[in-house]
Amino acid sequence: MPGEQILAVKAANKSFRRPNGEPLVVLESVDLSLKEGELVGLLGRSGSGKSTLLRLIAGLSRPNGGAVEYLGKPVAGPPPGIAMVFQSFALFPWLTVLENVEIGLEAMGTAPAEMRKRALSAIDMIGLDGYESAFPRELSGGMRQRVGFARAVVTHPNILLMDEPFSALDVLTAETLRTDFLDLWSEGQLPIKAVVLVTHNIEEAVQMCDRILLFASNPGRILLELKVDLPHPRNRQDPAFRALVE
Ligand code: ADP
Ligand code: MG
Repeated sequence: MPGEQILAVKAANKSFRRPNGEPLVVLESVDLSLKEGELVGLLGRSGSGKSTLLRLIAGLSRPNGGAVEYLGKPVAGPPPGIAMVFQSFALFPWLTVLENVEIGLEAMGTAPAEMRKRALSAIDMIGLDGYESAFPRELSGGMRQRVGFARAVVTHPNILLMDEPFSALDVLTAETLRTDFLDLWSEGQLPIKAVVLVTHNIEEAVQMCDRILLFASNPGRILLELKVDLPHPRNRQDPAFRALVE
């Protein structure tokens, strides 16, 4: 149900060891909650611990203190229903677009016919119709990231974690992908309940997110939370909005 809490990170700490053996505190007392319907941004400098926090949420690493709860239960390993999109796309170069998308479903034990059907529909939705049998090397960066999105979305995840998904793209391509994603999200076409977007781009965070958690570095901690109450970019010519900002 919209508004229902899906995820809670409670006073999470994470440290690593420096090469000289001393501890490196990367996250200190981080709290984050995520409700169904939310698109939350994590905005911070490079090295502030954003990816480390996403890895805790995805169950790929454990906090040294505090807790990560997903659907009310402590996370102890990668839980089902969390998908990720990476800055570097992370596609398999020897697989076609269709195979790269299907791979997200293979791990879930989906029957082959169903897998094909869902993958084709995700590819179509994300704007890659006609490229099913292409290999990643034949695609532009923007199209490769569309494959990354399709592979994540095809699993119908509760939470989509996006780690700087637009950072490797040129500005115009990034803008097109952001707007396409926002259109699908605001039209309710994405089979996703909530999104966490990591970025170091403040304009991107304001454009895309309902809430922004501002990260400080050394150690990574949440400095403040901003609520964003802007209409969708496509609706910013709306006279009611123009009257407010002009
Ligand atoms: P961000 O995503 O905000 O750029 P990261 O979460 O990748 O930051 O990294 C935060 C800090 O944690 C960096 O100083 C990085 O070197 C360190 N770090 C991340 N992962 C590890 C690891 N597995 N072992 C040691 N240090 C790590
Ligand atoms: Mg990172």
